[in-house]
Amino acid sequence: MEIDDTEVLIFPEPKEIIHKYGDEIIDKDYKIVYDYNADPLEVETAFGIAKRIEELTKWRPQVLDNHKVSGRQKIIFVGMNFKHMLSTKLDINDPEGYILEIEEGKIVLSGNAPPGTFYAGETFKQLLKFKKGRLSLPRLIVKDWPDYRYRGLYVESKWGPDLMSLDDWKELIDFMASLKLNFLDIGVYGCWVIQYENQITEFLFLPLKNYPKLKTPKTITYYSPMRKAWIKLSYLPRMFTEDFFSEVIAYGKKRNVIVRPAFNSLGHNTLIPREYPEISAIDENGNPTYYGFCLTNPKTLETMFKIYDEIIDRYLKPNNIDFFHIELDEVYALRGIDPKDPKRIVDPWCKCIECSKRTKEDLFFEYVMKIVRYLSEKGINKICMWNDQITRMNLLEKFATQLKEENLINKVVIEWWYYGPDEKDLESNIFDFGNFGSKLGLNRWVIPMGGYYFWWMYQSLLKNIYLMLRKGFEKGAEGVLTYCTFDHSFHRNYFCLSEFSWNQSKKRDLNQFNEKYAKFVFGDEYEKALKALEALETLSSAGDEVNSFLSTLFYYPYSYVHPDKIYPRSYPQE
Ligand SMILES: [Zn+2]
Repeated sequence: MEIDDTEVLIFPEPKEIIHKYGDEIIDKDYKIVYDYNADPLEVETAFGIAKRIEELTKWRPQVLDNHKVSGRQKIIFVGMNFKHMLSTKLDINDPEGYILEIEEGKIVLSGNAPPGTFYAGETFKQLLKFKKGRLSLPRLIVKDWPDYRYRGLYVESKWGPDLMSLDDWKELIDFMASLKLNFLDIGVYGCWVIQYENQITEFLFLPLKNYPKLKTPKTITYYSPMRKAWIKLSYLPRMFTEDFFSEVIAYGKKRNVIVRPAFNSLGHNTLIPREYPEISAIDENGNPTYYGFCLTNPKTLETMFKIYDEIIDRYLKPNNIDFFHIELDEVYALRGIDPKDPKRIVDPWCKCIECSKRTKEDLFFEYVMKIVRYLSEKGINKICMWNDQITRMNLLEKFATQLKEENLINKVVIEWWYYGPDEKDLESNIFDFGNFGSKLGLNRWVIPMGGYYFWWMYQSLLKNIYLMLRKGFEKGAEGVLTYCTFDHSFHRNYFCLSEFSWNQSKKRDLNQFNEKYAKFVFGDEYEKALKALEALETLSSAGDEVNSFLSTLFYYPYSYVHPDKIYPRSYPQE
């Protein structure tokens, strides 16, 4: 079935579209104009739409400043300084709010601020269509602004992202910008239990000059059909060897994407205590556990502060980034920490005389508060952490009270993560009984899953993303990130994130989203595509019985240590 010619498909859904009669042909008479005083992001916008037109038509419109064109030419005006040329106003002050007005011979893209102009450009690009062989745009007015202030991805330090080149990160940022996603969190240090080849899974993406022993070499073995042989590849993360994190942040700025590091400690932390055992937690026999820290040893925080300093001074300050994610999730005893005895349960909580005098809750609380104070003094204005450890220890209220007392509450963000489809799960203590800390005055972000284990059974996370974004919006959350290791196969999950993080005001359900997505991606073939996507959904919907069952058939769950089975485990015989 053909799509209705007048139907306008834009991701994410704009707040308001006023249709006018007819189409505007973008021919070679058109010039693109920015104000001579324009912000660099607005100049980027002007060149960005010229590039898009060139990709579609093979000719590139001229991009000029406003002293080089006369008012009688056909012009695409780009920037907030052309606001006076619009026929209507935006009553919302949001810096990402914009108006795009397309009329005969004149097009205006104007934001409340440069980020708004940039998004007018993204909407403009999506509207460009060929009709009867001519590049055209529908005549209309788009008035638009986002519902969540921060929208984006948390890309974990794992296989996949570790091999991403600078160009791959740039491509990801361009993709995000096209969906009006403005935040990229990059996991730069994290450790997990033993999975492959009896090795602890550790990733460090940043070379720390003060701690040269900290590195995470990997060897992967794969079959190469080209060479008809098994190949062993040994490498360090590309971001580590080429040290391009600063370039990723700088590129993000050109696309209105804030890039922030996430550096874990306590849990998810085996590399630092192994390489610097003097600060490791110790066991009952006084031996370092190489998992977690001794929290009463002053050298522990000295080390962490020195690491934070290096990251802030080298990567964040030069790029004016004042966000930092300290993570601090899942601080508990685990199997799979000791390669010599994978089944042994190892505790990250220190058993030294000094630590033993205190409760874990006290030690954790003090550790977090000291970090928050330190980072705040270093000029970090948004210090983020996961919710789970703080709620697991029933410390949420105490934390909020202390932050208020020290005037730090506005500098801290709690990120509430949940990856399932069931709203009832959010009613537990771990999620502050569905309140996400809203009654305590804490800044809230919500974190659904965007697609993670691309080497496992494929997952659609639509239900989870939809649920978390709706709940977060109800509780006044200011940000949303999907936790993921970026992969294009999760395309639909990212579109769902874009759609519902930008626009919660227009009440729509997942069926409407699916139909729009199918039309957007598959055009006139959308009805067939919709059927195929529905079939895929029955197999891939995360949390459903079918997907859970199929997931057990893959190697992935067998890569973990099981208390009652021999390790490495036998697959698929087990
Ligand atoms: Zn200790």
